[in-house]
Amino acid sequence: MKKHNFSAGPCILPQDVLLKASQAVLDFNDSGLSLIEISHRSKPFVDVMEKARSLALELLGLEGKGYKALFLQGGASTQFLMVALNLLEKRAGYLNTGTWADKSIKEAKIYDDVYEVGSSKEANYNYIPKGYEIPSDYDYFHCTSNNTIFGTQMKSFPKCDIPMVCDMSSDIFSRVIDFSKFDLIYAGAQKNMGPAGTTLVVIKEDILGKVSRKIPSMMDYKVHVSKGSMFNTPPVFPVYVSMLTLDWLKNLGGISAIEKENEKKARLMYSEIDLNPLFKGYAAKDDRSMMNATFTLENENLKDTFETMLKEAGINGLNGHRSVGGYRASMYNALPLDSVKALVEVMSELESKA
Ligand SMILES: *Cc1c(COP(=O)(O)O)cnc(C)c1O
Repeated sequence: MKKHNFSAGPCILPQDVLLKASQAVLDFNDSGLSLIEISHRSKPFVDVMEKARSLALELLGLEGKGYKALFLQGGASTQFLMVALNLLEKRAGYLNTGTWADKSIKEAKIYDDVYEVGSSKEANYNYIPKGYEIPSDYDYFHCTSNNTIFGTQMKSFPKCDIPMVCDMSSDIFSRVIDFSKFDLIYAGAQKNMGPAGTTLVVIKEDILGKVSRKIPSMMDYKVHVSKGSMFNTPPVFPVYVSMLTLDWLKNLGGISAIEKENEKKARLMYSEIDLNPLFKGYAAKDDRSMMNATFTLENENLKDTFETMLKEAGINGLNGHRSVGGYRASMYNALPLDSVKALVEVMSELESKA
Protein backbone atom coordinates (compact mmCIF):
# COMPACT_ATOMS: atom_id res chain seq x y z
CA MET A 1 0.00 0.00 0.00
CA LYS A 2 1.24 3.49 -0.87
CA LYS A 3 2.27 5.40 2.26
CA HIS A 4 1.49 8.99 3.15
CA ASN A 5 4.82 10.50 2.20
CA PHE A 6 5.76 13.70 4.07
CA SER A 7 9.46 13.40 3.24
CA ALA A 8 11.30 16.74 2.90
CA GLY A 9 13.36 15.74 -0.14
CA PRO A 10 13.76 13.65 -2.13
CA CYS A 11 10.04 13.45 -1.76
CA ILE A 12 6.70 12.46 -3.15
CA LEU A 13 6.06 12.61 -6.89
CA PRO A 14 2.73 12.10 -8.66
CA GLN A 15 1.87 8.41 -8.98
CA ASP A 16 1.08 8.88 -12.66
CA VAL A 17 4.55 10.32 -13.23
CA LEU A 18 6.18 7.35 -11.49
CA LEU A 19 4.25 4.95 -13.69
CA LYS A 20 5.20 6.72 -16.91
CA ALA A 21 8.82 7.04 -15.78
CA SER A 22 9.12 3.36 -14.94
CA GLN A 23 7.62 2.44 -18.30
CA ALA A 24 10.12 4.68 -20.11
CA VAL A 25 13.00 2.96 -18.34
CA LEU A 26 11.84 -0.33 -19.86
CA ASP A 27 10.66 0.86 -23.25
CA PHE A 28 10.69 4.52 -24.19
CA ASN A 29 7.73 5.52 -26.42
CA ASP A 30 7.53 2.00 -27.90
CA SER A 31 11.00 2.42 -29.38
CA GLY A 32 12.28 -0.92 -28.14
CA LEU A 33 14.93 1.01 -26.18
CA SER A 34 15.14 2.35 -22.68
CA LEU A 35 15.15 6.10 -22.11
CA ILE A 36 18.44 5.69 -20.24
CA GLU A 37 20.22 3.72 -22.97
CA ILE A 38 19.74 6.08 -25.90
CA SER A 39 21.99 8.94 -26.96
CA HIS A 40 21.24 12.27 -25.38
CA ARG A 41 21.83 13.71 -28.86
CA SER A 42 19.14 11.55 -30.41
CA LYS A 43 15.95 13.30 -31.50
CA PRO A 44 13.72 11.57 -28.93
CA PHE A 45 15.83 12.82 -26.05
CA VAL A 46 16.50 16.28 -27.50
CA ASP A 47 12.70 16.60 -27.71
CA VAL A 48 12.42 15.69 -24.02
CA MET A 49 14.97 18.32 -23.05
CA GLU A 50 13.31 20.99 -25.18
CA LYS A 51 9.89 20.18 -23.79
CA ALA A 52 11.18 20.29 -20.20
CA ARG A 53 12.83 23.66 -20.79
CA SER A 54 9.81 25.19 -22.46
CA LEU A 55 7.32 23.80 -19.92
CA ALA A 56 9.35 25.34 -17.11
CA LEU A 57 9.25 28.79 -18.72
CA GLU A 58 5.59 28.42 -19.66
CA LEU A 59 4.47 27.46 -16.15
CA LEU A 60 6.47 30.32 -14.63
CA GLY A 61 4.97 32.76 -17.13
CA LEU A 62 8.41 33.67 -18.46
CA GLU A 63 8.13 32.72 -22.12
CA GLY A 64 9.34 35.37 -24.53
CA LYS A 65 10.73 37.55 -21.74
CA GLY A 66 14.43 37.00 -22.31
CA TYR A 67 14.81 34.00 -20.01
CA LYS A 68 16.47 30.65 -20.64
CA ALA A 69 15.81 27.46 -18.69
CA LEU A 70 18.65 25.02 -18.01
CA PHE A 71 18.74 21.60 -16.40
CA LEU A 72 22.14 21.35 -14.76
CA GLN A 73 23.84 18.91 -12.40
CA GLY A 74 25.45 19.26 -9.00
CA GLY A 75 22.30 20.14 -7.07
CA ALA A 76 21.21 23.50 -5.76
CA SER A 77 24.43 23.47 -3.74
CA THR A 78 26.48 23.93 -6.92
CA GLN A 79 24.31 26.94 -7.75
CA PHE A 80 25.51 28.62 -4.53
CA LEU A 81 28.92 28.71 -6.17
CA MET A 82 27.89 29.24 -9.80
CA VAL A 83 25.82 32.29 -8.93
CA ALA A 84 28.83 33.94 -7.32
CA LEU A 85 31.25 32.89 -10.06
CA ASN A 86 29.01 34.28 -12.80
CA LEU A 87 27.59 37.40 -11.16
CA LEU A 88 29.79 38.55 -8.29
CA GLU A 89 32.32 41.23 -9.22
CA LYS A 90 32.60 43.35 -6.10
CA ARG A 91 29.87 42.87 -3.56
CA ALA A 92 26.55 41.08 -3.22
CA GLY A 93 23.73 41.29 -0.68
CA TYR A 94 22.35 38.10 0.85
CA LEU A 95 19.34 37.52 3.06
CA ASN A 96 20.22 34.88 5.63
CA THR A 97 17.03 32.94 6.39
CA GLY A 98 18.30 29.45 7.06
CA THR A 99 20.86 26.71 6.63
CA TRP A 100 20.73 26.81 2.83
CA ALA A 101 21.00 30.60 2.69
CA ASP A 102 23.93 30.39 5.09
CA LYS A 103 25.64 27.87 2.83
CA SER A 104 25.08 30.06 -0.22
CA ILE A 105 26.74 32.95 1.64
CA LYS A 106 29.71 30.79 2.55
CA GLU A 107 30.28 29.81 -1.09
CA ALA A 108 29.95 33.38 -2.38
CA LYS A 109 32.48 34.59 0.19
CA ILE A 110 35.11 32.40 -1.48
CA TYR A 111 35.00 34.75 -4.46
CA ASP A 112 34.25 38.19 -3.16
CA ASP A 113 32.59 40.32 -0.61
CA VAL A 114 29.18 39.43 0.75
CA TYR A 115 27.00 41.60 2.93
CA GLU A 116 24.15 40.09 4.89
CA VAL A 117 21.29 42.54 4.42
CA GLY A 118 19.30 40.71 7.09
CA SER A 119 19.51 37.55 9.15
CA SER A 120 17.36 35.55 11.55
CA LYS A 121 20.22 33.31 12.61
CA GLU A 122 20.05 34.59 16.20
CA ALA A 123 16.54 33.12 16.52
CA ASN A 124 17.52 29.82 14.86
CA TYR A 125 15.76 31.08 11.74
CA ASN A 126 12.20 30.91 13.00
CA TYR A 127 11.17 34.04 11.11
CA ILE A 128 11.92 36.03 7.92
CA PRO A 129 13.72 39.35 8.48
CA LYS A 130 11.84 42.39 7.16
CA GLY A 131 12.50 46.06 6.52
CA TYR A 132 16.05 45.55 5.31
CA GLU A 133 17.68 47.72 2.66
CA ILE A 134 19.31 46.46 -0.51
CA PRO A 135 22.10 48.81 -1.64
CA SER A 136 21.60 49.72 -5.30
CA ASP A 137 25.30 49.53 -6.17
CA TYR A 138 25.68 45.83 -5.37
CA ASP A 139 26.06 43.21 -8.08
CA TYR A 140 22.96 41.26 -7.02
CA PHE A 141 20.67 40.35 -4.16
CA HIS A 142 20.20 36.70 -3.18
CA CYS A 143 17.34 35.23 -1.17
CA THR A 144 15.74 31.85 -0.42
CA SER A 145 12.00 31.78 -1.05
CA ASN A 146 11.25 28.83 1.23
CA ASN A 147 13.36 27.58 4.10
CA THR A 148 12.86 23.85 3.94
CA ILE A 149 14.46 23.06 7.28
CA PHE A 150 12.86 25.76 9.44
CA GLY A 151 9.48 25.95 7.74
CA THR A 152 9.48 29.65 6.91
CA GLN A 153 8.60 31.20 3.56
CA MET A 154 8.94 34.66 2.08
CA LYS A 155 5.41 35.92 1.49
CA SER A 156 6.61 38.93 -0.45
CA PHE A 157 9.83 39.95 -2.11
CA PRO A 158 11.62 43.26 -1.69
CA LYS A 159 11.76 45.99 -4.24
CA CYS A 160 15.13 45.55 -5.80
CA ASP A 161 17.00 47.73 -8.32
CA ILE A 162 19.75 45.20 -8.87
CA PRO A 163 19.51 41.64 -10.25
CA MET A 164 17.52 39.45 -7.87
CA VAL A 165 18.57 35.82 -7.46
CA CYS A 166 16.43 33.30 -5.63
CA ASP A 167 16.91 29.75 -4.41
CA MET A 168 13.41 28.35 -4.91
CA SER A 169 14.38 24.71 -4.41
CA SER A 170 11.53 23.84 -2.10
CA ASP A 171 8.62 25.94 -3.33
CA ILE A 172 9.04 26.48 -7.05
CA PHE A 173 5.81 25.79 -9.00
CA SER A 174 3.81 25.75 -5.74
CA ARG A 175 2.36 29.26 -5.59
CA VAL A 176 1.71 32.21 -7.84
CA ILE A 177 4.54 34.74 -7.80
CA ASP A 178 5.52 37.35 -10.34
CA PHE A 179 8.55 35.36 -11.45
CA SER A 180 9.63 38.13 -13.81
CA LYS A 181 10.84 40.07 -10.75
CA PHE A 182 13.75 37.65 -10.62
CA ASP A 183 16.79 37.57 -12.86
CA LEU A 184 17.95 34.14 -11.81
CA ILE A 185 15.95 31.37 -10.15
CA TYR A 186 17.34 27.97 -9.27
CA ALA A 187 15.79 24.88 -7.77
CA GLY A 188 17.05 21.37 -7.10
CA ALA A 189 14.55 19.01 -8.75
CA GLN A 190 14.04 16.71 -5.79
CA LYS A 191 11.43 18.78 -3.95
CA ASN A 192 8.69 19.83 -6.30
CA MET A 193 9.77 18.54 -9.67
CA GLY A 194 11.58 15.25 -10.00
CA PRO A 195 14.27 12.90 -8.75
CA ALA A 196 17.57 14.18 -7.36
CA GLY A 197 20.20 14.71 -10.03
CA THR A 198 19.17 17.82 -11.87
CA THR A 199 18.69 21.46 -10.95
CA LEU A 200 16.50 23.87 -12.84
CA VAL A 201 18.12 27.23 -13.50
CA VAL A 202 16.03 29.98 -15.05
CA ILE A 203 18.11 32.92 -16.04
CA LYS A 204 17.61 36.26 -17.68
CA GLU A 205 20.24 36.23 -20.36
CA ASP A 206 21.16 39.90 -20.19
CA ILE A 207 22.65 39.62 -16.69
CA LEU A 208 25.42 37.34 -17.94
CA GLY A 209 28.90 38.23 -19.15
CA LYS A 210 29.45 41.13 -16.74
CA VAL A 211 32.20 39.75 -14.50
CA SER A 212 35.89 39.94 -15.34
CA ARG A 213 37.05 36.58 -13.98
CA LYS A 214 37.58 33.51 -16.12
CA ILE A 215 34.85 30.95 -15.53
CA PRO A 216 35.47 27.22 -16.05
CA SER A 217 33.18 25.91 -18.82
CA MET A 218 31.04 23.66 -16.65
CA MET A 219 30.47 26.55 -14.22
CA ASP A 220 29.64 29.10 -16.92
CA TYR A 221 25.94 29.79 -17.49
CA LYS A 222 26.73 31.27 -20.91
CA VAL A 223 28.23 27.97 -22.04
CA HIS A 224 25.15 26.04 -20.92
CA VAL A 225 22.80 28.56 -22.50
CA SER A 226 24.65 28.47 -25.82
CA LYS A 227 24.57 24.66 -25.86
CA GLY A 228 20.87 24.39 -25.05
CA SER A 229 21.61 22.73 -21.69
CA MET A 230 23.50 19.98 -23.55
CA PHE A 231 27.12 21.09 -23.10
CA ASN A 232 27.86 17.68 -21.66
CA THR A 233 25.68 14.61 -21.14
CA PRO A 234 22.67 15.85 -19.21
CA PRO A 235 21.10 13.75 -16.44
CA VAL A 236 18.64 12.14 -18.84
CA PHE A 237 16.40 10.35 -16.35
CA PRO A 238 15.92 13.26 -13.88
CA VAL A 239 15.25 15.61 -16.80
CA TYR A 240 12.66 13.21 -18.22
CA VAL A 241 10.87 12.78 -14.90
CA SER A 242 10.93 16.56 -14.34
CA MET A 243 9.37 17.00 -17.77
CA LEU A 244 6.62 14.53 -16.83
CA THR A 245 5.93 16.36 -13.55
CA LEU A 246 5.78 19.73 -15.28
CA ASP A 247 3.39 18.27 -17.84
CA TRP A 248 1.28 16.81 -15.01
CA LEU A 249 1.14 20.26 -13.41
CA LYS A 250 0.20 21.93 -16.68
CA ASN A 251 -2.66 19.47 -17.16
CA LEU A 252 -3.90 20.18 -13.64
CA GLY A 253 -4.23 23.83 -14.54
CA GLY A 254 -0.75 25.11 -13.71
CA ILE A 255 0.57 26.93 -10.67
CA SER A 256 -2.65 28.79 -9.79
CA ALA A 257 -4.55 25.49 -9.61
CA ILE A 258 -1.97 23.70 -7.47
CA GLU A 259 -1.67 26.76 -5.23
CA LYS A 260 -5.31 26.32 -4.20
CA GLU A 261 -4.64 22.71 -3.23
CA ASN A 262 -1.50 23.69 -1.36
CA GLU A 263 -3.44 26.36 0.55
CA LYS A 264 -6.06 23.81 1.60
CA LYS A 265 -3.40 21.41 2.86
CA ALA A 266 -1.51 24.10 4.76
CA ARG A 267 -4.68 25.52 6.33
CA LEU A 268 -5.70 22.09 7.60
CA MET A 269 -2.23 21.32 8.92
CA TYR A 270 -1.69 24.61 10.73
CA SER A 271 -5.14 24.74 12.24
CA GLU A 272 -4.45 21.35 13.86
CA ILE A 273 -1.04 22.54 15.10
CA ASP A 274 -2.65 25.68 16.58
CA LEU A 275 -5.76 24.09 18.07
CA ASN A 276 -4.24 20.90 19.44
CA PRO A 277 -2.65 21.73 22.84
CA LEU A 278 -0.14 18.88 22.48
CA PHE A 279 1.65 20.54 19.57
CA LYS A 280 3.44 23.80 19.01
CA GLY A 281 4.38 25.41 15.69
CA TYR A 282 8.03 26.37 15.24
CA ALA A 283 7.90 29.22 12.71
CA ALA A 284 6.50 32.72 13.30
CA LYS A 285 2.87 32.62 12.17
CA ASP A 286 3.17 35.30 9.47
CA ASP A 287 6.10 33.53 7.88
CA ARG A 288 4.84 29.95 7.94
CA SER A 289 5.69 27.85 4.93
CA MET A 290 2.95 26.34 2.82
CA MET A 291 5.38 23.55 1.91
CA ASN A 292 7.07 22.53 5.17
CA ALA A 293 5.20 22.75 8.47
CA THR A 294 7.55 22.47 11.46
CA PHE A 295 6.21 21.66 14.91
CA THR A 296 7.07 20.01 18.19
CA LEU A 297 5.25 17.68 20.51
CA GLU A 298 5.21 19.45 23.86
CA ASN A 299 4.95 16.37 26.06
CA GLU A 300 7.98 14.14 25.47
CA ASN A 301 6.25 11.24 27.26
CA LEU A 302 3.83 10.94 24.36
CA LYS A 303 6.56 10.63 21.74
CA ASP A 304 6.56 6.84 21.49
CA THR A 305 2.77 6.63 21.38
CA PHE A 306 2.61 9.31 18.67
CA GLU A 307 5.27 7.64 16.56
CA THR A 308 3.64 4.23 16.84
CA MET A 309 0.35 5.76 15.74
CA LEU A 310 2.03 7.46 12.79
CA LYS A 311 3.53 4.17 11.72
CA GLU A 312 0.20 2.38 11.98
CA ALA A 313 -1.45 5.06 9.85
CA GLY A 314 1.21 4.60 7.15
CA ILE A 315 2.66 8.08 7.67
CA ASN A 316 6.25 8.40 6.53
CA GLY A 317 8.99 11.05 6.60
CA LEU A 318 7.76 13.23 9.43
CA ASN A 319 10.98 13.59 11.41
CA GLY A 320 12.20 17.15 11.77
CA HIS A 321 15.67 18.19 10.65
CA ARG A 322 18.29 17.76 13.38
CA SER A 323 18.80 21.53 13.65
CA VAL A 324 15.16 22.09 14.65
CA GLY A 325 14.06 18.79 16.17
CA GLY A 326 10.42 17.79 16.46
CA TYR A 327 8.47 17.12 13.31
CA ARG A 328 8.22 18.48 9.81
CA ALA A 329 5.33 17.79 7.49
CA SER A 330 6.43 18.51 3.94
CA MET A 331 3.40 19.10 1.76
CA TYR A 332 4.81 19.40 -1.73
CA ASN A 333 2.66 19.65 -4.87
CA ALA A 334 2.19 15.90 -5.28
CA LEU A 335 1.06 15.25 -1.70
CA PRO A 336 -2.70 14.62 -1.67
CA LEU A 337 -4.98 16.46 0.75
CA ASP A 338 -5.97 13.02 2.08
CA SER A 339 -2.46 12.51 3.43
CA VAL A 340 -2.75 15.70 5.48
CA LYS A 341 -6.18 14.53 6.67
CA ALA A 342 -4.62 11.24 7.80
CA LEU A 343 -1.90 13.06 9.74
CA VAL A 344 -4.31 15.50 11.35
CA GLU A 345 -6.50 12.57 12.41
CA VAL A 346 -3.58 10.92 14.19
CA MET A 347 -2.74 14.20 15.94
CA SER A 348 -6.27 14.69 17.20
CA GLU A 349 -6.53 11.05 18.21
CA LEU A 350 -3.41 11.53 20.30
CA GLU A 351 -5.08 14.48 21.99
CA SER A 352 -8.11 12.38 22.89
CA LYS A 353 -5.87 9.65 24.31
CA ALA A 354 -3.70 12.03 26.38
C1 LIG B 1 17.34 20.96 -0.53
C2 LIG B 1 17.72 22.37 -0.67
C3 LIG B 1 19.00 22.76 -1.16
C4 LIG B 1 20.08 21.76 -1.46
O1 LIG B 1 19.84 21.09 -2.63
P1 LIG B 1 20.90 20.02 -3.20
O2 LIG B 1 20.27 19.69 -4.51
O3 LIG B 1 20.95 18.90 -2.24
O4 LIG B 1 22.20 20.69 -3.34
C5 LIG B 1 19.24 24.11 -1.34
N1 LIG B 1 18.31 25.03 -1.04
C6 LIG B 1 17.10 24.71 -0.56
C7 LIG B 1 16.11 25.78 -0.25
C8 LIG B 1 16.77 23.37 -0.37
O5 LIG B 1 15.56 23.04 0.12
